[in-house]
Amino acid sequence: MKLAVIGTGYVGLVTGTCFSDLGNEVTCIDVNQAKVEGLKQGIIPIYEPGLSELVLRNHEEGRLNFTTNAAEAIPDAEVIYIAVGTPQSDSGAADLSAVWKVVEGIAPLLRKDALVVVKSTVPVGTNGKVYDMLNKLCGREVNVASNPEFLKEGSAISDFMYPDRVVCGVRNREAEALLNTLHAPLLRTGKPILFMSPESSELTKYAANALLATKISFINEIANLSEKVGADINDVRIGMGHDQRIGFQFLFPGLGYGGSCFPKDVRALASLADSLELNPLIMRAVDEVNVHQRASLVRKIDAFYGGEVAGKTFGVWGLAFKPKTDDIREAPALELLNYLVDNGATIRVHDPEAMENVNEIFGEKIAAYCKSEMEAVDGVDCLAINTEWNEYRTPDFKKLKSKMKTPTVFDGRNLFDLATMEKHGFTYFSVGRRPVD
Ligand code: NAD
Repeated sequence: MKLAVIGTGYVGLVTGTCFSDLGNEVTCIDVNQAKVEGLKQGIIPIYEPGLSELVLRNHEEGRLNFTTNAAEAIPDAEVIYIAVGTPQSDSGAADLSAVWKVVEGIAPLLRKDALVVVKSTVPVGTNGKVYDMLNKLCGREVNVASNPEFLKEGSAISDFMYPDRVVCGVRNREAEALLNTLHAPLLRTGKPILFMSPESSELTKYAANALLATKISFINEIANLSEKVGADINDVRIGMGHDQRIGFQFLFPGLGYGGSCFPKDVRALASLADSLELNPLIMRAVDEVNVHQRASLVRKIDAFYGGEVAGKTFGVWGLAFKPKTDDIREAPALELLNYLVDNGATIRVHDPEAMENVNEIFGEKIAAYCKSEMEAVDGVDCLAINTEWNEYRTPDFKKLKSKMKTPTVFDGRNLFDLATMEKHGFTYFSVGRRPVD
């Protein structure tokens, strides 16, 4: 099939690349000229495991192309995916300005039998608005479907290629048939493709993200309770997770959720409910707990040093909002960095992928962007951990201690065993567990 994917970010680039890998002819369109030029030369703008190889191979074999000019690809495309960003606006609702711009731009270029598919996460009713707008601009009925994306950054390729389910919001049999054909190679393991109304598909995406975010906020609230009552959240988590009705996924205490999806999607859902004069109590609470949790490492550090971090040196491990991505949007690490910068601490950071993005924001306010995690703790008063990259899990504790001026660790991800930290003589603060000092 001939496809066009508009918006070449985490979702658009993965979608376009994977569909091209399945034999489709795909053109990825983006307004960002530098990004498109880079992609044409094999420069991948984001870090996502396995993505680079797939982009290079499919581009080289002529199935995957990049352009800033929609007119080069839309007139031929049977299916046009809209995968532009839908960030949070000041009110908390989703900002759909990029979606409307795309709709206006493609209307005069669409072939008669084209199927336009909204992949971006958009509030319920957006598909209907896109449909009305295209019908008006084109002067005929345009087929518009929704196909929300459930991939996770860090495992985006395998999530896309082996989805738990594919959700499609459609208006007619033609859309259903096209989307069935397109997704058939992804569903050979028997996982379902679910057809429903556009409104149901739009709400499914928000509801799924909101429930996952709820699990995270819930376990963080229990972790905070654990600290006060002398329980160990790790034991509590395991005790809960073995119940098959509960399970282990998204039940890890930490610094709350970040990234470009959960925070904005929870708020957008709450904002939608607000606009309908419903009272979204759970969504508001999930967000509030998360905002509070994101600052939990800062609160612990501030209390430990009595607010006096000026003149102290901090090693920081992990900047990305989660491992295996370079994405720092709404990352808890930013909260810590801002606090340390504002209060005059010296900062040495390490992250396997996200340092460039952090450098763009903090530049020289951070003293050292280090090549290794051990370089980042050279002579520091304290180590703070924000992201659970695998390479941080089993450090040489003797070496770690010998490099630090004082062996104090604030761990926002519960990477280490309390007994190990005790044995090696660290002062150690984690989440929902007793301190070691
Ligand atoms: P992103 O910010 O990484 O990428 C968006 C891209 O769209 C950018 O490259 C931007 O230049 C481009 N763009 C903006 N306006 C454009 C226009 N008028 N024409 C062409 N290109 C334009 O965003 P993302 O993380 O890929 O998210 C895209 C959508 O997918 C959002 O609605 C998001 O909520 C949803 N989503 C994201 C994830 C994720 O993990 N990132 C997962 C599922 C769903």
